[in-house]
Amino acid sequence: MTAVLEVRDLKVRFATPDGEVSAVNGVSFDVNEGECVGIVGESGSGKSQLFMSVMGLLAKNGRTLGSAKYRGTELVGMPVKDLNKIRGDKIAMIFQDSMTGLTPHLRIGKQMTEVLVQHKGMGEAAAVKRALEMLNLVRIPEAARRLAQYPHELSGGMRQRIMIAMALLCEPELLIADEPTTALDVTVQAQILDLMADLKRVTKAAIVLITHDLGTVAGLCDKVQVMYGGRFMETGSVQEIFYQPAHPYTAGLLASMPRLTEGRREKLYAIPGQPPNLQRLPKACPFQERCDYVHERCVDELPLLRDVTPGHAKACHLLSLANPVSDPKAPSLKVATEARSA
Ligand code: SF4
Repeated sequence: MTAVLEVRDLKVRFATPDGEVSAVNGVSFDVNEGECVGIVGESGSGKSQLFMSVMGLLAKNGRTLGSAKYRGTELVGMPVKDLNKIRGDKIAMIFQDSMTGLTPHLRIGKQMTEVLVQHKGMGEAAAVKRALEMLNLVRIPEAARRLAQYPHELSGGMRQRIMIAMALLCEPELLIADEPTTALDVTVQAQILDLMADLKRVTKAAIVLITHDLGTVAGLCDKVQVMYGGRFMETGSVQEIFYQPAHPYTAGLLASMPRLTEGRREKLYAIPGQPPNLQRLPKACPFQERCDYVHERCVDELPLLRDVTPGHAKACHLLSLANPVSDPKAPSLKVATEARSA
């Protein structure tokens, strides 16, 4: 498999008046051609900042350490004018809030054709034709009429479809969708996910889906990476994550998913406690304060990702969830060592 994106030991730091925030703490992964990768975690897990850093879109007080390569070209530290040639062209991003992603005072047609003129050097007529094709692809009714409309004249679901159409205009090789359905009601959410599944087949673009909702990744993604406290807790195929979870956090996320249970009212499980403060992350395992299986080692040694089976990895000291005893062979970093290297 050929990697479109290779990320190695990526860290994101923010300088604040109250001290440094460690939003992402050394993650490594590949996104391969045509693959859909789900990045799942609660808000504050670092999942969005990870991709904002890859795209060079961190806030001014943020900095990226480590490496993120698009087709072998280093993105970290790349000058903005070079990054702009890749952003929106080879790598495109869809945001949660379509009202922010679209320019309110510009007609849809103008916003779409400008991208094509800028990145592809197209003439006006060719750009309009391509914009119409994309609106049809994302199933916008009366596409020609929409080109003359402003964002506020459209429903939230339609605006999100237009955001997706805009992201696809230049035929990106990698599409990063950050909570693309969160702001929409449930039926529209299902339509957008259905649309993304179709686009995955039609466009062959690699997709990264960033979400707090494990259910969202089920029908769309090939791989899932579960993030917490700026680290990957578990990575694996959708089947492994859903049917053989190996990390207590993943198991907690699965248990808190709503299920259809006929004729019974079941109270939803909620993982106790709150996500950690990224300014004062617990030493060693970031999940220790909320974990039912926490033991002495979890407080002293940072668990490293290790294979459960090939392609399925977890960062936890336990032998397994079925046999939750500490595994002395589990690779780890003594906290003092980690503190020096961070
Ligand atoms: S390392 Fe310890 S605290 Fe962390 S998830 Fe595993 S058992 Fe829980």
